[in-house]
Amino acid sequence: MLAYYWLNPGGLVRIANQVITCPNCKASLPDWSKSCQFCQADTSQVIRPKQDNSDPQAFETPTWTLSAYYAVSTLLLISGLVGIGTTLAGSQKDGLGLFDIISLVFDGVGALVGIGLLLRLEIVRGITNIICFFGILSGLRFILFGLGATFISSWGLLVVIYGILKVCVYGFMIYLIGETDRYTWR
Ligand SMILES: [Zn+2]
Repeated sequence: MLAYYWLNPGGLVRIANQVITCPNCKASLPDWSKSCQFCQADTSQVIRPKQDNSDPQAFETPTWTLSAYYAVSTLLLISGLVGIGTTLAGSQKDGLGLFDIISLVFDGVGALVGIGLLLRLEIVRGITNIICFFGILSGLRFILFGLGATFISSWGLLVVIYGILKVCVYGFMIYLIGETDRYTWR
């Protein structure tokens, strides 16, 4: 079975199992295209190549992928809620600073995304790719910051570990969204 990675105009990566040709401009398009992304021609009538059904299991989401998907979604939700809780608890003493508000927004979005992923909302799955990308960047920042702090005190190491975890979780989520996109939900 062939899988094609596709870059939409929106920048989101989706995967097609087959490729069709645009009747107008002859561009190669993923088989789920209803219209050509280059010349907007209607491609809904284009005959799709026959699916390779020699391995019917190929289109079923492996159980571990689904389990991991739900686990990471729950983790995003929990870490968002924990983040909100910690920020609010910390602000009891000296009020909300700019950094606190940024953290609240980021954690709030994280928690909402967790809920959306658990409900399998297609739009959330799309924006999650972008959020995960920023999550990885933020994780890398924690790693760099932690590495610098390790020379001063031992908690720097914890920050590094937190950063690595963050990069792994978000990277894994991007992988899982791609994996679960390839298959029909069951
Ligand atoms: Zn075209």
